[in-house]
Amino acid sequence: MGSDSLSILTTSTKPTPIPIPTQEDPSNPSTALLSFNTDSSSSAPTDPPHKPNTTTIVFISLLLIACVAISAAIAFAFLFFSSSPSASPPATSHVETQARPLIKLPHPVVLLISSDGFRFGYQFKTDTPNIGRLIGNGTEAEMGLIPVFPTLTFPNHYSIVTGLYPAYHGIINNHFLDPRTGEAFTMGSHEPKWWLGEPLWETVVNNGLKASTYFWPGSEVRKGSWTCPDKFCMNYNGSVPFEERVDTVLSYFDLPGGEIPSFMTLYFEDPDHQGHQVGPDDPEITEAVARIDMMIGRLIEGLEKRGIFEDVNIILVGDHGMVGTCDKKLIFLDDLNPWIDIPADWVLSHTPLLAIRPPPGVEPSDVVAKMNQGLKSGKVENGKYLRVYLKEELPSRLHYSASDRIPPVIGMIEEGFKVEQKRTKRKECGGAHGYDNAVFSMRTIFVGHGPQFARGQKVPSFENVQIYNLVTSILKIQGASNNGSALFRESILLSSP
Ligand SMILES: [Zn+2]
Repeated sequence: MGSDSLSILTTSTKPTPIPIPTQEDPSNPSTALLSFNTDSSSSAPTDPPHKPNTTTIVFISLLLIACVAISAAIAFAFLFFSSSPSASPPATSHVETQARPLIKLPHPVVLLISSDGFRFGYQFKTDTPNIGRLIGNGTEAEMGLIPVFPTLTFPNHYSIVTGLYPAYHGIINNHFLDPRTGEAFTMGSHEPKWWLGEPLWETVVNNGLKASTYFWPGSEVRKGSWTCPDKFCMNYNGSVPFEERVDTVLSYFDLPGGEIPSFMTLYFEDPDHQGHQVGPDDPEITEAVARIDMMIGRLIEGLEKRGIFEDVNIILVGDHGMVGTCDKKLIFLDDLNPWIDIPADWVLSHTPLLAIRPPPGVEPSDVVAKMNQGLKSGKVENGKYLRVYLKEELPSRLHYSASDRIPPVIGMIEEGFKVEQKRTKRKECGGAHGYDNAVFSMRTIFVGHGPQFARGQKVPSFENVQIYNLVTSILKIQGASNNGSALFRESILLSSP
């Protein structure tokens, strides 16, 4: 249990300063994760120099002559075949640089699709011919899309549509308290005061265009020029079959040209829902992935039937990945009692983001020092897998301090571990997300397909705060200030004619 996709929805605001666009990322996670230790300098002592004898010299000479002969043969062969008229053309006959013109649609359209908890690599679990078609004829983040920290559903979905880190868009967790009023934010809170920044649907309407949302965190919030119109803004209902969602989005393309929304969202709860229950490596996940692929197939078929598949810019993403968790990988706060007592009511969230707000009079730095002392003592079970920070001292690449909604004490938990208050007899294995966004298992997918995306292009991993600028650029509209880079689009999108 513990699913935090939209599916379990039941349900002070001091404006944060305008964030300065930040592109620095000194410890590029994609590089860090992929680097190997190739340093072999310490492995062997330096060999003593040795003198060559006559046999060695003769052997080396023969070897050199042989090499020259082979090279000459290859050069002749190359000249012969390259001048031959029957030689086949090179595989890459041309490189696309210009966006392809629209065939039928009267204006550019971006369809942003989220498959919740679609961990990068799930696309290889089974045959995914339809997602594969988007990848093969579109642009893919070759090693996946990097979520923002914390790698949770609401913070990430809202970063995707605002281009802001959670500290700036205000949705710093799936649930949190306003430190001034004590009011609670839940996944069902639709009051605009919680939702800072300017989401894409609002930007699109500000620019005189139409937008539609078939579910997305924040889309039901009436804010600025966005009124969540009945026809184009679905109120969340997890029981609506996926097929119905796809068909409704397709029906928007049957409207008169000027009525077709320029920006549309489409959301699926799977495979996050299954991931929480059974972890990422279970046949249930494979089934869920196959079903998402079928929905993409249904969408492609509907667009093809209307003659507009090549006209629509489809962006398929997930919000985060998933990692297996199990009952042996637990850390209990009560085990820290010899160093410090952490009552449950100080803890705003336990796992995988540990967030603690001590009461007035208790110094957060004292809490951090005592907790870390206990965790490092070797006497707390799994203690070495949790490290506690003052939020200002978290690694800057996490961008997780510039909001008073973020509690002062934050714990970083190693991948796959969980924090609980006290020991219980409960035994369970499942899946979780929310960990450091540098962890590879938290990555998700990015695929762009359509007139503005080069076919068969692979791009390096990037953070999802870049997506906002991609959408405004495709729609040629003015966006709000955000944390993405204005130049990023040049590395992903084809240039407009
Ligand atoms: Zn999610």
